[in-house]
Amino acid sequence: MKSQDYIALDERYGAHNYHPLPVVISWAEGCRVKDPEGRSYLDFLSAYSAVNQGHRHPKIVKAAKDQLDLSTLTSRAFHNDKMGLFLKKLCEFTGYENALPMNTGAEAVETALKAARRWGVEVKGVENGRQEIICVDDNFHGRTIAVISMSSDPDATVNYGPYVPGFRRVPYADAQAIEKAITPNTVAVIIEPIQGEAGVFVPPVGYLKAVREICTKNHVLFICDEIQTGFCRTGKRFAWEHEEARPDIMCLGKALGGGIMPISAIVADHEVMKVFTPGTHGSTFGGNPLASAIGMAALEVLVDEKLDENAERLGQLFRSELAKIACPRVTEIRGKGLLNAVVFEKGFEAWNVCISLRDAGLLAKQTHGNIIRFAPPLVITEAEIKEAIAIIKGVFEKIA
Ligand SMILES: *Cc1c(COP(=O)(O)O)cnc(C)c1O
Repeated sequence: MKSQDYIALDERYGAHNYHPLPVVISWAEGCRVKDPEGRSYLDFLSAYSAVNQGHRHPKIVKAAKDQLDLSTLTSRAFHNDKMGLFLKKLCEFTGYENALPMNTGAEAVETALKAARRWGVEVKGVENGRQEIICVDDNFHGRTIAVISMSSDPDATVNYGPYVPGFRRVPYADAQAIEKAITPNTVAVIIEPIQGEAGVFVPPVGYLKAVREICTKNHVLFICDEIQTGFCRTGKRFAWEHEEARPDIMCLGKALGGGIMPISAIVADHEVMKVFTPGTHGSTFGGNPLASAIGMAALEVLVDEKLDENAERLGQLFRSELAKIACPRVTEIRGKGLLNAVVFEKGFEAWNVCISLRDAGLLAKQTHGNIIRFAPPLVITEAEIKEAIAIIKGVFEKIA
């Protein structure tokens, strides 16, 4: 079968809830992927940062294969001999006292919202049913009904009502707006430290720290959704570390699964995590031994290969090389570490640019029409960054 045949199958049998770039991946390793025709591409999306450790990292693949020969799924009705080791490693990596494992990012966000609502009643003393959570414009936290109830994106929300109440939305990158929206019933503020899906929107310096301080002052939990920005993507283990704005709860996902399977979690200190008692929350698959073995290996690779330092160093190189490319339609280059975006002028359609990049051997996807995100696996080398820059330069310089 050829690429076009696989695409035809997706079109015929799938729901049309995505509009993928027309390319089929049938093999992947490190930063490279190949299609059924054998054409090779540099992956500059990394499955939205779920492949920070690179495709099929040998250490993570080995951990998965080894665990497949031992045990894979136990449910939480019984203990298994991997979950505790995984949670210990995750707590040590993040610097929190407790972790609660789930599967997808949206579930981690749901878990954080549930923790905050319970904490609001049981610790802060808010009447149940009156808890309020503050979120921000242009957020992306996932696709469940509760999570889209926070969204300001009509694509994500139209005709999915009734929406979940209890959220107040304020502008992003405006700490005063958060402070003004706080009431005695506010239990949490949830933000992405850099907005990924919104187009790699980096807030002004001082924002995260200000939000942290406002939350502390008002006895409100600060929740950071680090699902896309976490695990070394922005040059630090977590993006909040750029301002030492340690949140009360972190939502984690994507790269925690090492590019192999969906693994998510929240981490928090005992003071928050204690609100969960037997029967009050759960997941059949969360913390399963296969996921735990993979999650441990995923964390080890981040540390052993110093992927935070690699992201910082090569991110700077990437942005400075991008800035040298002459393209009058580009209005901004922004990002941190290896989470970067090129913004074209308003109204510009970047889809055709992504097609040209594909034809030249680099995969990236536009967001909001005029923004292209560039987020390669963090194991990328300097030579591969230069190869990518040459491809991007060739394509951008031909844009009229
Ligand atoms: C991808 C993402 C999610 C949702 O994760 P899923 O695994 O797709 O449910 C939530 N928050 C952020 C910031 C994300 O980038």
